[in-house]
Amino acid sequence: MAVVETQRPRIRPLDKTVVNRIAAGEIIIAPSNALKELLENSIDAGSSSIDITCKDGGLKLLQITDNGSGISKDDLPILCERFTTSKLTKFEDLNSIQTYGFRGEALASISHISHFSVVTKTKQDTCAWKCHYSEGKLVPSKPSVQSSDPKPIAGKDGTSIIVEDLFYNFPSRLRSLKSANEEYSKIVDVINRYAIHTENVGLTCKKFGTTSNDVIIRNNMSRKDRIRTIFGNSVANELLDLDFEPNLDIGLFKCYGNVTNSNYTNKKVIQPVFFINNRLVSHDPLKRAINQVYTNYLPRGHKAFVYLALEINPKNVDVNVHPTKREVRFLNEDEIIEHIVKQIEITLSQLDSTRSFMTQQVLPNAKRFRQDDFDAELDSVDSMYNKKTKSAPQSQQYKKPYEHKLVRTDFNQSTITSFISTNAAIDLSTINRVEVKLKSVLDLRKEVETRTNKNLTEVFSKHTYIGIVDYSRRLLCIQYDVKLFLIDYASICNEFFYQIALSDFSNFGKIKFSEPISIRSILQENIYNDETILRSNFKLQDPPSLETVLTNYVEMAEMYMEYFSIEIDNADPLDPKLISIPMLIRGYTPNLTKLAFLLFKMVARVNWDDEKMCLGGILRQIALFYIPATIPNSDDPDSTLDDAAERENLSDILDNLIFPLLKKKFLATENLVRDVVEIANLPGLYKVFERC
Ligand code: ADP
Ligand code: MG
Repeated sequence: MAVVETQRPRIRPLDKTVVNRIAAGEIIIAPSNALKELLENSIDAGSSSIDITCKDGGLKLLQITDNGSGISKDDLPILCERFTTSKLTKFEDLNSIQTYGFRGEALASISHISHFSVVTKTKQDTCAWKCHYSEGKLVPSKPSVQSSDPKPIAGKDGTSIIVEDLFYNFPSRLRSLKSANEEYSKIVDVINRYAIHTENVGLTCKKFGTTSNDVIIRNNMSRKDRIRTIFGNSVANELLDLDFEPNLDIGLFKCYGNVTNSNYTNKKVIQPVFFINNRLVSHDPLKRAINQVYTNYLPRGHKAFVYLALEINPKNVDVNVHPTKREVRFLNEDEIIEHIVKQIEITLSQLDSTRSFMTQQVLPNAKRFRQDDFDAELDSVDSMYNKKTKSAPQSQQYKKPYEHKLVRTDFNQSTITSFISTNAAIDLSTINRVEVKLKSVLDLRKEVETRTNKNLTEVFSKHTYIGIVDYSRRLLCIQYDVKLFLIDYASICNEFFYQIALSDFSNFGKIKFSEPISIRSILQENIYNDETILRSNFKLQDPPSLETVLTNYVEMAEMYMEYFSIEIDNADPLDPKLISIPMLIRGYTPNLTKLAFLLFKMVARVNWDDEKMCLGGILRQIALFYIPATIPNSDDPDSTLDDAAERENLSDILDNLIFPLLKKKFLATENLVRDVVEIANLPGLYKVFERC
């Protein structure tokens, strides 16, 4: 058989224009990349106003007009040649080629893959000049025209760059693009991000043929207002300012920005806005590290808004790891990230310990309080701390002990602190955490440990959350191993909040009311005006008078503040005002309709004769206050739209906040055994189904 000689293709050098086109296509992969380069050039040219117009997502037309320095006529012939830049002059600047990405490549690249024209005028010029480029060179405006020289035309100071038919000679790139709308929104996103960072520059962007702008940023807008215009009030109202110390040892010259606090929760993730040496970049390790910090402050799945601008020693930055310069690497990356993350952590933990509420939220709703809630709660309190039903304390015998009377104990003894230590993984002890030395509190912590049921604790620490079964009886389902459990989440939350309260004793964050609340009016209106509530619900033979309760708050204000972050303004002893209540879990607001009952019960139902009973009793009342209220189920004819919203909110909080925390740090106590019922095990269920 004859051997067929296959013709081996010979290796030949590619045509130079093809090489250039391929290279350009690596730098410019979508219209938004071209726009980014053009925008940077306009900003570098000192513009204070930049207007952008797009047609077909920037593919048909991408036009950017600025009022910057303009380009002098003599430079126009080489404007689009590779490696021509006005931004480097000396050999020593070569370092900056790497650092800022001034490679003089952008315009050259775009001119290889589009129909490219420029109109520009410097202050010195008497008229503007217009010219066209192809493949890096000046070309005539159309085939019928001979000269490719710049043509004088009327025009304002500044530069207009017109990119038409992007990728017209690069069909494969064209095919890989998303829809025009998606490409357009990528462009708008780039503009918005630059708008945040670039102060004193006004920006607009619109689609060709429309009059309404999709971006309008005035040049005199503050950064916060820019963020508000772009991302809305929900972000702008919760912004914290970040301004870090420089750290020259690790090459960090400057670092500032804004992040949202823990009030801002949003499942729609806004990718972080990072600028390094004034260039928009993405940086995954930094992003991951910051998200990690926020896991302690936000419900699962929610992300903060982050804007960070770094100035890093240009010698240390490598922008050439990615052709589009989207990603950068820099020296001392780990150290710089750590520096940043630590600052954010400190800022959050300090500022975040105060949350504000509209006072109005508290009062008008109070009538919605549900009676059955109460009874369940009272029962559990009774079984815990108030075995003997106490009548109202006439004199508050327990006084805050003086420092020299404190019983000192070994810090290591407080095991519960280390086990359930706050709801944050950051060690708050390094950030001004007050060490608790009160023997009564340490005893209460030890009691929790002795009451712990090992098996049940194991169930909670390894459970999988399934969902709420009944909102009105407060039942939910979890899975552990091959077993399904129905649990009374009111009881579990009660114990869990008590443990958090116990471990955060003296170290609570605050939930602060936007206006101080008159304790007298809230008690009068919600409790003392209603004889039935007062007597039957509290099962008190002789409930304390309103004056007795108020006296307690006036006299004990200092203790409430120091131990429980319950801040009371007692300037007017007849009308003390409540300023804040303790914050147990960041991101979870207790049902404030129960506030009047908390204020009443902390005095009326706590044994004030004994330090341990008193502090433990107050902690119990705080825990009760935090238990989610009952809500009618959806099949209940009384269920309202508000109830539906509350159900959704509660289910989110239990699933994403409370149970994940509970999994990490909960000691299930003996008394909870009756609140957890095994309803099925999977092998059993499988057998049932096999028989069917
Ligand atoms: P680089 O920005 O890396 O210098 P470019 O190819 O993006 O390279 O731009 C080449 C040069 O063209 C710039 O250095 C600058 O001198 C000039 N230039 C580009 N756009 C503008 C503009 N909008 N205003 C003034 N000069 C510009
Ligand atoms: Mg450039």
